Amino acid sequence: MEKVVIIGTGCAGLTAALYTARANLKPLVLTGKHPGGLLTTTSTVENFPGFPEGIDGYELMTRMQKQAERFGARVQFGTLEAADLSGRPILLTVDGECVRTETLIIATGASHKHLGVEGEHLLENKGVTYCATCDGALPMFRNKPLVVVGGGDSACEEALYLTRFGSTVQLIHRRDSLRASRIMAERVLAHPRITPIWDSVVTEVLDVKQDKVTGVKVKNVKTNNETVVDCAGLFVAIGHIPNTQLFKGAIHMDEAGYIIPKKGAATNVPGVFVAGDCADRIYRQAITAAGMGCAAAIEAERYLEAMNQ
Ligand code: NAP
Repeated sequence: MEKVVIIGTGCAGLTAALYTARANLKPLVLTGKHPGGLLTTTSTVENFPGFPEGIDGYELMTRMQKQAERFGARVQFGTLEAADLSGRPILLTVDGECVRTETLIIATGASHKHLGVEGEHLLENKGVTYCATCDGALPMFRNKPLVVVGGGDSACEEALYLTRFGSTVQLIHRRDSLRASRIMAERVLAHPRITPIWDSVVTEVLDVKQDKVTGVKVKNVKTNNETVVDCAGLFVAIGHIPNTQLFKGAIHMDEAGYIIPKKGAATNVPGVFVAGDCADRIYRQAITAAGMGCAAAIEAERYLEAMNQ
């Protein structure tokens, strides 16, 4: 029987792992399908305190894991397939095996949102991607025109990163101003190789017949004019969906699937706590996820203490 199982190894999960490990609870930490979480798909993280020169996202997560393991966290590859939260202990199915635990910390994060337009799915990995830092350096994108969709920090970060590889970068946004933080927006708008295309949406990805991205159909939402923008790569950066589907019906969540904490990091189910992007539709920062992971760990520790008294 486990005392604490943590689902997810992003900033929230690994911080919860560090704290519960230091409380001598020997947490079992399951990576899910994306070890290290979304930060591993980022280039330089400039806003995590303690790293004045910035730090590579993958390195930051590797360091967090090592720190948690130093105190006894057991990080394992494993995907949660089902969770029965109705009784005590909590029963989890992990890669076909049953895991019994007294407490559970859900830190499952969020996944990239898709546009849902024709051609997008069929051309995924054939020019359509959701991660510039993962794929931007591929030969298929070198010295080619590239398109980024979105107006937030992710889209800005992707556009800036892609200027290293593409011949040009066009940033397509559905409104006429960026949602991104001011510093990111200013960098993008001042960059000589990034051209914004305002008030526009991608309506189709071309060309399924050629089995590769050759361009995107773009509609101006104010004039309804449609044009084709030639490109070899489409980088979609339009936000995220919380990875909470497995807990639907058991854990209270809002209409978008973000878990609603009851008090601090607790949920409506005793012994189940939540941290990070799967419960945060407002801040969604590495440092806020880490803070929530710390809170969830402290709550889980207190819950176990109270149960044992
Ligand atoms: P976001 O802030 O939610 O922005 C998503 C963008 O995509 C918005 O501009 C939105 O348009 C657009 N969009 C959403 N759905 C769309 C659709 N179906 N079609 C076309 N456009 C669509 O997401 P994010 O950029 O991934 O950022 C998430 C969080 O992570 C934020 O809190 C951000 O600050 C943080 N983050 C920080 C950094 C950094 O500090 N370096 C880097 C990455 C992310 P509207 O503006 O019209 O809504």
